[in-house]
Amino acid sequence: QSGHSEEENVTFYSQDMNQGMQERMRLETGLRHALGHGQLLLHYQPKFALASGRIIGAEALVRWHHPERGMIPPAEFIPLAEATGLVVQVGEWVLEAACAQAQSWKQAGLPPIRLAVNVSAREFTSALPGRVSETLARYGLEPSWLELEITESTLMHNIDRVIGIMDRITALGVALSLDDFGTGYSSLSYLKRFPIDTLKIDRSFTTGIPSDSNDCAIASTIISIAQQLKHKVIAEGVETVEQLAFLKSSGCDEVQGYLFSRPLPAAEFERALRENWGLDG
Ligand code: C2E
Ligand code: MG
Ligand code: MG
Ligand code: MG
Repeated sequence: QSGHSEEENVTFYSQDMNQGMQERMRLETGLRHALGHGQLLLHYQPKFALASGRIIGAEALVRWHHPERGMIPPAEFIPLAEATGLVVQVGEWVLEAACAQAQSWKQAGLPPIRLAVNVSAREFTSALPGRVSETLARYGLEPSWLELEITESTLMHNIDRVIGIMDRITALGVALSLDDFGTGYSSLSYLKRFPIDTLKIDRSFTTGIPSDSNDCAIASTIISIAQQLKHKVIAEGVETVEQLAFLKSSGCDEVQGYLFSRPLPAAEFERALRENWGLDG
């Protein structure tokens, strides 16, 4: 009898796996289609400088507007795109779209800001610096318009090769920031070798401020590491005034989070820029 139920289990699991694979394949085919049919778009979440209280940039965050399923968040398709390699094409689209948007804001006479684009490990190849420089030139943009956010996982394999690519990017004048900082495995001995501009405190630490003393300690330690290494530091996921107060008194340079603004469609972000939104409202 137990043999029978095991057999049922085997059938059950393999059907389950088939369904999972079919769903992944549907998503992959859909994403390929989305790339060619204008279903991807960018939202822009403002970044504020604590010193001035003004918008100094924005993070471009990709969304997939699916004709039947509605707005699909990146957490539902970026991991798959990373696994299949499709993330390279998604990344090309994102860089292109962000630069086109920056050009249009520049031509409209809006104050210059820095647009941050997220780059996956698989995109971080020796072809990237050339593509970035070619794209900036094609849109007539100074490199100060652009920033690339990379995560620690990008930096884990073949450090020397990765540092070479980072050096070529920063030599262009494009800023690099280390996203989700503190959640990966990069060691402090590598951190000093990375030519980065900004450390980005991960939301998982910001969330615990001020009630969790460990999160407070980690956040203020990241801030002082950044200061010692002459990097800027930004906190992501700021949702409360208490978090803002703590970060401000700890010497954090910049903040980003729902307390100030959700990621916005381009037209709404443009309005925020025109109206010169500040931390004081
Ligand atoms: P990330 O780069 O760490 O981006 C921050 C995420 O936190 C965004 O989610 C943003 O909407 C969300 N967030 C910002 N402020 C708050 C807050 O105050 N509270 C909470 N709860 N969340 C906040 P989103 O847009 O869903 O993006 C998720 C992740 O997907 C990003 O994490 C990034 O790793 C990835 N991603 C997004 N766009 C791209 C892209 O163009 N290329 C690549 N490779 N990855 C992307
Ligand atoms: Mg990011
Ligand atoms: Mg982040
Ligand atoms: Mg994060």
